[in-house]
Amino acid sequence: MTEQFEETAACENLSSYLNELGKGLDEYLRFEHSDAMQNPEDWKAKLGLDLPHNGIGIDDVIAEIRSLLLPNASAIPNPGFSSFITTGASNSALLANLSALVSAPQRYSLTAFNYVEELSLNWMRDLFGLSKEMKGIYSSGGSTANLIALGAARQQVFEKIGIDPARDGVQMPCRIYASAACHHTVHRAAAVLGLGRNSVITVPTNAKGQMSAQALRKVLREDTESKDSSEFLQLAVVANAGTTETGAIDPLAEIAELTQEYELWLHVDGAYGLPGILDPETAHLFRGINQADSVSVDPHKWMGAPVGIGTTFVKDRSILFRAFTQGAASYFEGAFSDEDAQHSLDSMGLPYADFGVELSAPSRGVVVWAIIREIGKSGLQKRICRHNAMAKHIAERVKAHPDLELALEPSLSICCFRYAHKSITNLDDFNRSIHRQLIRNGRNMPSTTYFKNKFVIRPCFIGARTSWQYADDLLDEFIELAEQLKNKNQ
Ligand SMILES: *Cc1c(COP(=O)(O)O)cnc(C)c1O
Repeated sequence: MTEQFEETAACENLSSYLNELGKGLDEYLRFEHSDAMQNPEDWKAKLGLDLPHNGIGIDDVIAEIRSLLLPNASAIPNPGFSSFITTGASNSALLANLSALVSAPQRYSLTAFNYVEELSLNWMRDLFGLSKEMKGIYSSGGSTANLIALGAARQQVFEKIGIDPARDGVQMPCRIYASAACHHTVHRAAAVLGLGRNSVITVPTNAKGQMSAQALRKVLREDTESKDSSEFLQLAVVANAGTTETGAIDPLAEIAELTQEYELWLHVDGAYGLPGILDPETAHLFRGINQADSVSVDPHKWMGAPVGIGTTFVKDRSILFRAFTQGAASYFEGAFSDEDAQHSLDSMGLPYADFGVELSAPSRGVVVWAIIREIGKSGLQKRICRHNAMAKHIAERVKAHPDLELALEPSLSICCFRYAHKSITNLDDFNRSIHRQLIRNGRNMPSTTYFKNKFVIRPCFIGARTSWQYADDLLDEFIELAEQLKNKNQ
């Protein structure tokens, strides 16, 4: 008896479906649609069906993507979006991602995709001027990248006292030193690693938003000399190469001197800011980065990769293996011998699964490979320089305007400022109102933050689609709204 083939999902004719979907995507990318929350009842009613018993077929699924989802999608890829640190992907990155989804659903085995996984990591290392001994591992983003880096630090520090923390668990309290402006994924990484969020000791920042090296020196000395210093392990210092809040780059060279003196692991979180090293005007701020034991960077931020791609670089990948191995498993038996391979399935290739926290994982390297192959170092450099110059341009205009106040000089592509006319009593509320209006207008969409307890507008330029005119346009619109609101209040 022959079994009947009853698969109902479409698995062929991709080009025609892509063509259809592509039209919808191009339409979306013109950003002429209104915001999703303009008319939410309409699309929610059409989408919110009971569980379907029978499907509608792929053509109608594509039609619904085009008619219901895309016109009510995210504002993130909009060139006027400058909130948070996230962006839409550029085309080559998307297409490379799609190619991998179709043809290399996992990053393992001896395929060309597996090959460019490693190649692209090495390219990125060279692109950002990291030392040749650095090796990388992809993961889902900056959160996981920081977790992997701190997992390596934990492994190294405990091994020094004869404990394998990956096997036997954390046997002693630890301390991680991070600036007040560090990303709070550092705290979560400490929690996941069994160290606890409270193991993160906050080092104050200076007026430029950088970790104060002086304050770090003081706390390290006090901790080392304190009478209970034998009751905890000093594990790592986490420095920022571009804080999320202001883009400040910590004094890496000074911090590295301290981590060497105290024999501490130095992790540099460059999730957002590391590509800033390509701008000749800011490159010097990264001096000292090659003293780091680990460095993280997110291709899904400034490089324009689709979300889901972070990277950790370490000087010694064997520590990662010891920190993250799953232990031996029979289903992998013999899977790692590359010798005499004659078929792509003769070996798993490099054991990325044991360098991080994911087993099944997409081929991410091909995305980075495509980005770099498409525009080269020079193309990325142009984007970084443009965005940095936009932040500086806003800063110059803010300084020249009598009613605007600059919170601090921009280091990278973030500029923090506010409207501060003397007639306004509550500046935080005033600026918050202008910000809400900006977002609702939907043309220029910066985010906000508190810097030194002041509420400030915080555009962060990173999108490939964001061109120079958006700097002036954002500030013009902001000033116009501020003056309207001020006159209304008077
Ligand atoms: C964005 C960011 C993170 C977190 O990265 P995700 O990719 O969102 O997980 C960590 N550190 C810094 C400095 C960041 O800017």
